[in-house]
Amino acid sequence: MRKIIVQKYGGSSVANTKRIESAAKRIVRYKRKGYDVVVVVSALGDTTDELLDLASRITKNPSERELDMLMSTGEQISVSLLAMAIHKLGCEAISFTGAQVGIITDAKHTKARILDINTVRIRRELKKGKVIIVAGFQGTSPDSEITTLGRGGSDTTALALAKVLKAKVCEIYTDVDGVFTADPRIVKDAVKLESISYEEMLEMASLGAQVMHSRSIEVASKFNIPIHVRSSFNNKEGTWIIKEVKAMEDVLVRGVTVNKNEAKVTICNVPDKPGLAAKIFKRLADDDINVDMIIQNVSRTGSTDMSFTVNGTDLQKTLRSARVISHDIKAKGVTHDKNIAKVSVVGVGMKSHSGVASKMFSALASKRININMISTSEIKISCVVDKKKADEAVKAIHREFKLGRR
Ligand code: ASP
Ligand code: MG
Repeated sequence: MRKIIVQKYGGSSVANTKRIESAAKRIVRYKRKGYDVVVVVSALGDTTDELLDLASRITKNPSERELDMLMSTGEQISVSLLAMAIHKLGCEAISFTGAQVGIITDAKHTKARILDINTVRIRRELKKGKVIIVAGFQGTSPDSEITTLGRGGSDTTALALAKVLKAKVCEIYTDVDGVFTADPRIVKDAVKLESISYEEMLEMASLGAQVMHSRSIEVASKFNIPIHVRSSFNNKEGTWIIKEVKAMEDVLVRGVTVNKNEAKVTICNVPDKPGLAAKIFKRLADDDINVDMIIQNVSRTGSTDMSFTVNGTDLQKTLRSARVISHDIKAKGVTHDKNIAKVSVVGVGMKSHSGVASKMFSALASKRININMISTSEIKISCVVDKKKADEAVKAIHREFKLGRR
């Protein structure tokens, strides 16, 4: 049996026909080295954003089913063009939509999860010697509705395919050289990591490092599939995302992330009675709102404010629910703040070292940056700060932990 490699090309790696042709060359090179190549592609450049923009000019409240119909067209363009570019190089290739290739998802439009992939068609075409090109980010529900997997979901398509095809590695091609200690656009001396554990990458992805779709890391971690994140603009070695090895714990902090797309919502004067927190968060969950951080102070007067953060795109929906809840539980109304950012440090080294939190807080203090909310887990610490101070906070923390180039 030939070795199967899955390669995913992100939007910037297929942004125009020149880049598509360059991706095609790389693919053919791997094919000629003796690999069976399965390629997953994102939509060209910013196509998905442009499609969403078109929708927003028509309505503020589009049907999610129709959004999926719309967004899924982006990837259909890139797969077909890439197939043509490969043909031109004298190599056989065939492109597929998610539905054609048997990617079955649940029916949750715009955030569907993959349930199963039927690999019969892929294997048959691989046997014929073809390169397989699959539209990322999309699938089909059991009753044949087109679904999408959430923004950035092509990574998850790639890892799901790597899993069912038992690929040895999944390569993620992007426009940066790998995963960095911080966003190099913010921190000039950020360093490319040689490797990072699944656990750390999962935290970093959920915390705002826009490298990879979180679900894709979960899949990789569960099935122990090595991911190689690298640039499609050169041949340099990128960053390996792999199972944790002991030596990784020697480093206190692997990276610093920032998420500027969260908003804080506060329900004021929540009566201090058992069951109310349950009521609040059940209602939010029923409305499909993902809550991130939560804080509640001790009550000294029989009531207390309850604050939590949500994704900025869910803010309006959250405010609607929160106002209903506030009324129901006889709280004193709802306030919100969009001008926040969440800055986090991540590292498996925290499991065995102490003092990480105090170091982070003193970095913020040295720049007189106020901390709004704090949350921690075994391998991360997050602080909510004023959005205007976010970049400064990232730089200060990066310096404090000496993560920069030396
Ligand atoms: N094209 C989709 C997006 O922009 C999916 C992806 O690129 O992974 O979110
Ligand atoms: Mg992406």
